[in-house]
Amino acid sequence: MKKYVDLKKYNIEFKNLLSGPAQIGRMINYIIYTGEGKLLHKPGNRTIKLENNIGSAWTIEFMIGLNLVKLRSLTLKSESYVLELTEIGKEIYDLLQDKGCIADIYEGNSVKELKDDLKRNKIDEIYILFEKAFRKSAVFKNLIIYLDIENCSQDNMTVSKSEFNDNFFAEMLQFYENQQLNLASRTSTGGNRVPSLVQMCEFLDYCTVTKGRIIFKKDKLLNEKKDDTSAVVSQNELIEMIKKEDMLNKRIQKLAEEFGEDGNTIVTSTARLSQVQSAFKDRLIKENGQSCVICGIKNREMLIASHIKQSSLSNIFEKADNNNGLLLCANHDKLFDRFLITFNDKDGSIIISNNLDIDDKVICGLNSNFKLPSTLLTPQRRNFLKWHNDEFFKKNK
Ligand SMILES: [Zn+2]
Repeated sequence: MKKYVDLKKYNIEFKNLLSGPAQIGRMINYIIYTGEGKLLHKPGNRTIKLENNIGSAWTIEFMIGLNLVKLRSLTLKSESYVLELTEIGKEIYDLLQDKGCIADIYEGNSVKELKDDLKRNKIDEIYILFEKAFRKSAVFKNLIIYLDIENCSQDNMTVSKSEFNDNFFAEMLQFYENQQLNLASRTSTGGNRVPSLVQMCEFLDYCTVTKGRIIFKKDKLLNEKKDDTSAVVSQNELIEMIKKEDMLNKRIQKLAEEFGEDGNTIVTSTARLSQVQSAFKDRLIKENGQSCVICGIKNREMLIASHIKQSSLSNIFEKADNNNGLLLCANHDKLFDRFLITFNDKDGSIIISNNLDIDDKVICGLNSNFKLPSTLLTPQRRNFLKWHNDEFFKKNK
């Protein structure tokens, strides 16, 4: 038996992992309804007519598993929950709002019709957001483990649709048997539990479905997966970092005494700058983990220790001070460095320049509701952010 993900860690139940048909089109409609504060979830509700604003339970359960919506509060009268959008759900909603989409238009569409329509209306950025949500989900991770696609020698893996539905469902059932299995329905067969997953894969072009066969595409499914494996900083690496930091502190102190605190010229003209920069990056990783603070990408090669107050304007202590930094991926570093984004020095909320158009915002994965984690808002970092805010507003008048 393969080792599938721990659903508790994802804060979801079995029924959120494998819920019955949840058409992509209906999910899009439901995101709009939720954004408008209209959608309710009543466990077990099987009608899709939205009577009293209650949605199809199967669809909503799957959306919870994909982290697109979450339950907010229980309304006592109807034993139903008010739904709210998650961060990524909100991003999709904002995109749909910008494009003037209204709910109820995508309900019955096939994946192909839906894709054509999204393209026609220039809403195909929606794939990026759905993909982001899906890849992070337990649903996706379990699929990768089940298919064992890494060890597949061909570029494509062809499976019979009905066999896949039944076997995947059976294996999930067996694996999660002793954990609270909430099937949410008496009807429990692979044929009506797995299609949502297949459809999501089809929508994201991870597979094609023809004549009872599913052809999974290896490169598409594995793309980006490497980032996950290189993510964790080991205990030994951390100890090394701390040791290096002690040495660095002494070295910086010595340099400052020798050449004065404003060590710009001596530091830039020697190899010591790269040592300072590398220690600076280690400090940021130690403070908040090895990932871009905005998008979460974890591959070390992609991460840059970005100075808040420009490095060339910082003295030697400021250059090495993690309070004067944020760990960002290459794209987000560039945006921050060129003052196309900044973070409010009071509450850490992102401020996005009007010089970025909506398409670029989406491509860069910028969400106007984003805030820096409060643990990063130290008084010293807020001072540096103030400097960055002032520069940002000078350049974005
Ligand atoms: Zn990033």
